[in-house]
Formats: sequence, structure tokens, C-alpha cells
Amino acid sequence: MKQLGFIIPPALLALTLLILSSCNTNRNAPTSKVGFWERELGAVANVPLNPSDAQKELNLKVDLIPEGKYGRRLFREMKPQYITIHSTQNPTGDAYAHAKALNRGALRGGVCGYLCWHFTVQDDTIIQHIPTSERGEHADFDGPGNRYSIGIEMCEHQGNNQIATLERTAKLAASLMYHHQIPVDNIRAHYHWPREGYSTPNKNCPHFLLEDGRPGETWRWFVGRINQHHSRLVKFDEAVRRQKQNEEEARRRKQMVQRFWSKLTDIIGLT
Ligand SMILES: [Zn+2]
Repeated sequence: MKQLGFIIPPALLALTLLILSSCNTNRNAPTSKVGFWERELGAVANVPLNPSDAQKELNLKVDLIPEGKYGRRLFREMKPQYITIHSTQNPTGDAYAHAKALNRGALRGGVCGYLCWHFTVQDDTIIQHIPTSERGEHADFDGPGNRYSIGIEMCEHQGNNQIATLERTAKLAASLMYHHQIPVDNIRAHYHWPREGYSTPNKNCPHFLLEDGRPGETWRWFVGRINQHHSRLVKFDEAVRRQKQNEEEARRRKQMVQRFWSKLTDIIGLT
């Protein structure tokens, strides 16, 4: 085998290596769904983004469940450590319909008797239902998914653009990661929070980001996309920090030069 390189002419060897490397690429190629989404969305820009500009892009509307009522019947403070992604599996309700249902206590369940989560995302809008400093009822009863995570529901109503919804959700999650210092490993599918007492404790949710009901390549692609959006916000902070350091350095040098000249003028008696 060691002699093969001497036997095969260089051009043929190069061709063999090319074929081998393309085989390798094919093995790691994304599924058609992920490939289609990535092509439609394009790559995430690899440039810094001001976090407040990113916030404006979200088109976030705040329509909180009345304090002390329904899903907010009990005040339960939360310091968010995770972000949980769901999808509504509701073919008729848009984000506004879900907000309306939550605001009148129409969705029963959970520990407090009413379901609630923090954000609902549709293709062009996000609606916030409860503050991120309060726990929701969206994942696993009294488990860590509810006690420590921000719940995001992605809409699935007819006419809703799924790709735009995914991207808006990725940007929202990135923004929440940034503002609450949540690491990328703590982005969870609802699937990751088992529901005690259920015959299928790990729910197939968000179903269109899972393979055979489990997180796989599609889920990893989505988390990667969130991480790329988050990197842009972190890069902005780094750029601001670098600029401040440069300004400080320039100021220090200017002072040194001024001190040097004033000493020199003292020595040669120009004043
Ligand atoms: Zn769910």
C-alpha cells in the first residue's frame, strides 16, 4: 500500500483523492429538507450585528397574560437557564389566536391548571405572553423544562411560511441566549424534557425538526443556525471592546508624547 503512491501517476492519484474527498462530502451532506432550507435562507452573515438592531428585526409584540390570572395565576419567578423549542401542531391558529387563547385561559393543563409559554412565533411576527423572569407551563409539568426554560412555540397554521418562521425563531433564540447568557448546549427541543407518567415521555416536538421523533441532523442544523446568529451579537460586543481599547491606547500614546515634549522643553529651557 505504501508503494501505491509511486505506482499511480500523480494526475490519477489527484483524481482518486478528489473522488474520495467528494464521497466523504456526500456522506456528510445535509438531508434534502435541511439542504432546501439552507438554500432558501442563505448562509447567516458572518459580520457583527448590534444586539439592539437584532431585537428590532424580530418584530416582537408584547401581549402579556393578565398578571395574577390563568397561566400567571401564581407568581413563580424564574431565572432562565434553557430555551425550549416547540411547534403548535395547530393548523388553524396563528400567533394572535394563541395569544387570545392564553389571555382568556382557554388552554387548560400543567401544574397551575393553565398552559402558558413565553413566545409564539409566526413567519412575520413574534408575540410574547409571559415575562422571561416567570416560569411557564409548556414542557414537563414540574420538571426542569418548565422550571428553568423559556418556552417558544412555532406556528404551523395554513399559509404560514415555515422557513421564515424557523429563521425568526432562530433569531429570537439567539437574542435570548445573548441577553440571558444561555449557552448553546442549553437550547432544547421539547423532546428533551420527559413527561413523567406518559407512555411516550419524550414528545415528538417540534416534530418537523426531528427525525423519527428524535433529534438528529435537522435539529443539529437548527441549533447551528441559532448559534451562528448568536455569534454575530457576540462579535459586535468584541468589536466595541476592541475599539474602546484602541481609543484608550491612542489616548495613552498622545499623553506620553505630550509629556515627552514638555520635559524636553523644560530641559532645553524653552519656557
Ligand atoms: Zn412541545
